Order: sequence, then structure tokens, then C-alpha cells
Amino acid sequence: MQIKIPIEVSGRHIHISKKDLETLFGEGYQLNKIKQLSQPEEFACEEFVKVEVGAKSFEKVRIVGPLREETQVEISLTDAVGSGIVPPVRLSGDLEDSLPVIIVSPKGSVELQQGLIVAKRHIHCATTEAEELGFKNNDVVSVKTEGERGLIFDNVIVRVSDNYKLAMHIDTDEGNAAGINKIGEGIILK
Ligand SMILES: [Zn+2]
Repeated sequence: MQIKIPIEVSGRHIHISKKDLETLFGEGYQLNKIKQLSQPEEFACEEFVKVEVGAKSFEKVRIVGPLREETQVEISLTDAVGSGIVPPVRLSGDLEDSLPVIIVSPKGSVELQQGLIVAKRHIHCATTEAEELGFKNNDVVSVKTEGERGLIFDNVIVRVSDNYKLAMHIDTDEGNAAGINKIGEGIILK
């Protein structure tokens, strides 16, 4: 069976906790949504922060809402080159023993002992879609892309939730390797 899937490329971004948001933007601050993302609960925010990773810093890293229990900064391995550190490749939310990172806004800064990761490629899948396609949460699949730089991504984790919608997420390194700029399409190999 061949299943077509949209592929979306994520640039560096940050998910933030209520506590850290208030340290950076003031007590009671609310995020301002500017764009709905493909996953029904996720949205790009108007707010940017500066992120310091080892010897490097990145201006204007966008916050992605909604608020999370724990702040998480996602960068690519190319971003990390020259910083002196190599973040671990992790699924979102798996932050144990991830790396330190400093987040700066005009109003304050937060120094985290952990929270810096390179996002592990994954597929979001709604519970109903998973039933149709025969997937379970945490299944591992391969996804083939086409075109001049077509390739096969192995070790793609399937994440199933009522709040998801079928899409694969890769980072900018993976997008560039496959010749995909922002949005593409793949075929799940089963
Ligand atoms: Zn994702």
C-alpha cells in the first residue's frame, strides 16, 4: 500500500511555558496568534525571542503556540555548527538530558538547563486516520520523496492523537537534503 503524505519543513522555533513567557514578556502576557499551522492546535505567534546556543546566537526565533508545560527550542544541526555543542535528536517533549539554552527578550532572559533539541522527524496522524491506514502510535515507517534530490527517510516515528492531522514534519537540513522548500509530498512505504 502506498500512502501519500504532505511534508512540511520546520525552521528553528521555540515552544514556551507560561512561566518563561511571563519572565520574558511580563506577567499575564498572552501570545498573539498570526497564523494557524497544519496541526489544529498549533499556531505561529507574532512574538520573537533571541536564542543563545553555546557560542552562537539567533535573533528573531519565532514562538509557536499554544503554551507548553516545558520550554523547548528546536534548531537544526547546521544551526548548531560553530556553537560548540551538538543538540540531541529528540521527539518533541522528550527533553531529559537535552542541552542548555538561553532565551532573551527586550524585557528579560531565561537560562534553561535543558530544552534545546534537534527535532526528530515524525508524522502527525489523527486517530481516525490511523485506524484507516493501520498505524499505531510510535510506529516507525519510511517515507520516500521524489524529484531531483528524491530520497527515502527511514526511522520516521508516527504520532497518533485526536488533535493531529496527517502530515510529516522534517527540519531544514532534511528539507534541503530532499530538495523540499517549506512544503512537499512523500509516500509512506509500508
Ligand atoms: Zn510536528
